[in-house]
Amino acid sequence: MAIIASNFKTNHTRKSTSLFVNEVNDYLKKSGIKNEVYVFPTATSLDTFQTVSNFTIGVQNAYATASGSFTGEIGTSQLDEFEIKTILIGHSERRHILGESQEEITKKYEFYKNLGYKIIYCIGEPLEVKNQGIEKTLEYIYEQFVGIDINYENLILAYEPVWAIGTGVTATNQDIKNVHNAIKVKISKPLLYGGSVKVENVREICQIQNVDGALIGTASWKVEDFIQILENTK
Ligand code: PGA
Repeated sequence: MAIIASNFKTNHTRKSTSLFVNEVNDYLKKSGIKNEVYVFPTATSLDTFQTVSNFTIGVQNAYATASGSFTGEIGTSQLDEFEIKTILIGHSERRHILGESQEEITKKYEFYKNLGYKIIYCIGEPLEVKNQGIEKTLEYIYEQFVGIDINYENLILAYEPVWAIGTGVTATNQDIKNVHNAIKVKISKPLLYGGSVKVENVREICQIQNVDGALIGTASWKVEDFIQILENTK
């Protein structure tokens, strides 16, 4: 059994989100597969489908607040309206493109942890660090755990090397193994791999020791591909 998550990022409209979610819902009802499935649509589409069964809808991001003056952000007053209790924190695009610091990420983590949210916490190194070898890579990754309560019961980790995200370049099985084995020695939480996972490689990746599933962007956006990914990992 694998944990499989689809991250829409800034893709899909309300209409296509609704079609996607309803199709996945129907598929999971019929197939009876036991995978733990998550879908992270855009916040603007959270009300476009009926209650889902057999899988979980989460948010890609929210601010560490219930409400207040934080222009452009959403907080738990808004999330509660959709009964959202799952959030992605520390995604590399938020760290590296949107400029979230480890301090901000830690604050967000604590806030959502205290509310009992399921957190998928993302870590991963950029190319220049990877090129310095496994020790530097692990050092970099461990820095991303500073201030993070790794014993939190509702924590799932996702190792997503920055150089593999959205690039079509998947980490090699050996790269994945090296990092996953090292993390698992320190932290016994479910650990997903993310970064150019596709229909063709998802089964093999999920079979690597200490890989508990996959967090998928690009290759999950077509519903038929996402369903095939679920088929390939059941
Ligand atoms: P990708 O994205 O599958 O497009 O590489 C993964 C992610 O960002 O979670």
